[in-house]
Amino acid sequence: MQYVYAFEEGSKEQKYVLGGKGANLAEMTNLGLPVPPGFTITTEACNAYMAHDRTLPDGLLDEVATRLADLETKMGKRLGADDDPLLVSVRSGAPFSMPGMMDTVLNLGLNDASVTGLAKQTNNERFAYDSYRRFVQMFGKIVLDIPAERFEAALEALRHARGVATDPELNAEDLAELVETFQGIVKDATQGEFPQEPHEQLRYAIEAVFQSWDGRRARDYRKLEGIPDDLGTAVNVQTMVFGNKGDDSGTGVAFTRDPATGEHRPYGDFLRDAQGEDVVAGIRTTEPLDAMATQFPDCHRQLLDTMQRLENHYRDMCDIEFTIEQGRLFMLQTRVGKRTAAAALRMAVDMQAEGLIDTREAVLRIQPAQLDQLLHPQFDPHAQYTPLATGLNASPGAAVGTVTFTADDAVARHELGEQVILVRPETSPDDLHGMIAAEGILTSRGGLVSHAAVVARGMGKPAVCGCAALDIDVHARQLHVGDTIVREGDLISINGTTGEVVLGAVPVITPEPTGPFDTILEWADGFRRLGVRTNADLPNDAIVARQFGAEGIGLCRTEHMFLGDRLPIVQRYILAANEAEEIAALDELEHLQRADFVGILEAMDGLPVTVRLLDPPLHEFLPDIEELLVQDARGELDDTGRRLLHAAQQWREANPMLGTRGVRLGILKPGLYRTQVRALFDAATERKLAGGDPHVEVMIPLAVNEPELALAISWVREVAEETATETYGAGGINYAVGTMVETPRAALVADEIARVAEFFSFGTNDLTQMTFGFSRDDIEGRFLPRYLELHLLPANPFETLDVDGVGKLVRMAVELGRATRPDLQLGICGEHGGDPASVAFCHEVGLDYVSCSPYRVPLARLAAAHAALAAAGPGSTA
Ligand code: PEP
Ligand code: MG
Repeated sequence: MQYVYAFEEGSKEQKYVLGGKGANLAEMTNLGLPVPPGFTITTEACNAYMAHDRTLPDGLLDEVATRLADLETKMGKRLGADDDPLLVSVRSGAPFSMPGMMDTVLNLGLNDASVTGLAKQTNNERFAYDSYRRFVQMFGKIVLDIPAERFEAALEALRHARGVATDPELNAEDLAELVETFQGIVKDATQGEFPQEPHEQLRYAIEAVFQSWDGRRARDYRKLEGIPDDLGTAVNVQTMVFGNKGDDSGTGVAFTRDPATGEHRPYGDFLRDAQGEDVVAGIRTTEPLDAMATQFPDCHRQLLDTMQRLENHYRDMCDIEFTIEQGRLFMLQTRVGKRTAAAALRMAVDMQAEGLIDTREAVLRIQPAQLDQLLHPQFDPHAQYTPLATGLNASPGAAVGTVTFTADDAVARHELGEQVILVRPETSPDDLHGMIAAEGILTSRGGLVSHAAVVARGMGKPAVCGCAALDIDVHARQLHVGDTIVREGDLISINGTTGEVVLGAVPVITPEPTGPFDTILEWADGFRRLGVRTNADLPNDAIVARQFGAEGIGLCRTEHMFLGDRLPIVQRYILAANEAEEIAALDELEHLQRADFVGILEAMDGLPVTVRLLDPPLHEFLPDIEELLVQDARGELDDTGRRLLHAAQQWREANPMLGTRGVRLGILKPGLYRTQVRALFDAATERKLAGGDPHVEVMIPLAVNEPELALAISWVREVAEETATETYGAGGINYAVGTMVETPRAALVADEIARVAEFFSFGTNDLTQMTFGFSRDDIEGRFLPRYLELHLLPANPFETLDVDGVGKLVRMAVELGRATRPDLQLGICGEHGGDPASVAFCHEVGLDYVSCSPYRVPLARLAAAHAALAAAGPGSTA
């Protein structure tokens, strides 16, 4: 096996063997660009080293010696020679960029003899000794593991002794003395001399870079970025060039397009008479690239020409590190450059127009998650702050406001013109008005499918949920985080994109989606097969979603139509002593719901609207039983209060999520579903009479078998017939009836259920809860973080669909359902419908559409296009 490749031997396709940096250095070399020569030791050598107890594989050192000899011949210099020495850098380079996570040794080859050669050759003794002391310092720290502070303390002591404040004020003799001191530190720490033999220096440095792959920093970074541990790092050994050899030298970084805006113009910084670290360290003020035109006209021209060539070659924006050594330009590194979301969109659209890439590639260049950055306010990336606590990133975006602890307080402050953050242990449908008034929502309990998270996402408002560090005392109107007390009225900032909670106001920027945003999405629509609908309960949400490209409503939850000022009517219904009272309450509700449905059908005119009949258990519409009991004990309950307490006790259940909810409640209280359906069909009729085009889909929640569903569906059909007959005669309204598949049993008997259902919508929130037996409201605040840390689960199953388990049920239901009814319509309306990885699965199993909250519609459109393109394979146009 070949372990060492000269730059001429590699190419950019070999990043797994040569690492990203090595592959790109090879590519640039073969393009004829001025790259300082060198060679790359492969990732395979690193992996062999690690696998054999940190021993270099046989033959590696011989190969290194051969390549080094070639390099010496090419450069006409020898490593460590005392006349005109060759010096090299030794740098890590993994297959994926891991900036600053592994080790680098510069100026290798310097020793007590070659330092004089370097001084003579550059006519700069100070430069030579400064390079040497840096080398001993870096080698000591990285290769010999000596604490950096020991070298820094010696440097500090020397500055003190010389009465100077900065390193540049030390002269050549000072630095020569420092080299001796540093070598003394090495001797003291290792009981051996600082290695003078350059080949030995090189061997040590190679091993140190290999070992840094397994260092703490690198391992943590890989975990964070999801980079596999077994890739290994390559090692690049490259001839040193110096940008700090005087006024005819310099160094810089450049981007072929502006990485912040995407504008098509070269962008970058450079520094005269400096080394790479000086640019990055930001100690000296850099000059813009344009300034090079007057100071180094030839190099500037050559650089611009090279940038153009690199961009044409990589067909993407590149970032570049370069050095000018005594009037000669060298390219030290290039790679496809990082960019903001706005820049990514603009570049993709521009490059398509320029013919650099095709439409397919332009669409693939944007990650769905990047769109989120453009749809929601964000913390200013330059802002400095320390988070007070961190919770779940439940709904993206950032918000600043005063702390309020109840929905009513939030509304009151909002009405006075204040921006507020609603802080609750958790939210319930009762808090909706407060959530509407608030800029953002913060809870100490609940996960990604908790009420707060789902509703906030629907509204496009930031939310941080399950922030367990918050100890909230609603009655005292304050919260504690450790020793910090936050009171009502204090300012806080929340970042729903990261889960951070910050005391005080963090500056927020509000991005504007621009033309390229729409262009990319239009192109995406041309590639996707999946439809994209929205989960929306209110006309306004439906309008927003439609503007984002939603093709209908996949889930309209109707529970909010029973809350707020309608709650007393619902309670009257629950407490009704006889049929007449029941009917009176239902009539009132029917009337109110009809207006709700008209608004929603109008907002989605011409598109399907899936209305789910009432889903939550009845006790959710009753006051909290504990509070009622307290009031009762204090003798504060009137007659209605006592009846409510009685009803609350009667409807109380040990496992409400597995209790009398969904279609089961419908069966117990058939009047409820009939009322809802009548309101819906009347609304549809009204829309039709007004010239509208309503498409109604009635959805029954939580079904487990055919008879149960058939019964509920029979009421829908009866009401439909009555309504249609009253208004138009038969067949007036275009409608379908179907069910949610959200219990494992429904998935297992989907063939049976499809006999009566015209569509299925996978309710993967409940399906995940019931398949795993994981409470959707609790696990994120309990054991899930530990499970993720220990890799006992690959991801939060309430965020990304568990393909192996829940996905198996979905796939089975799709196959069984279609076997009974080939034209069965299939969608998903659980929160997974807006998660890019889950969207890919939905494409793969052949669903017809995904449905997600309005602000996730653009992401889902793009994710659906990516899924279709990935399934069609590379090079296809899908
Ligand atoms: C579901 O269970 O996936 C669903 C969409 O319904 P809900 O979240 O309202 O229970
Ligand atoms: Mg559900």
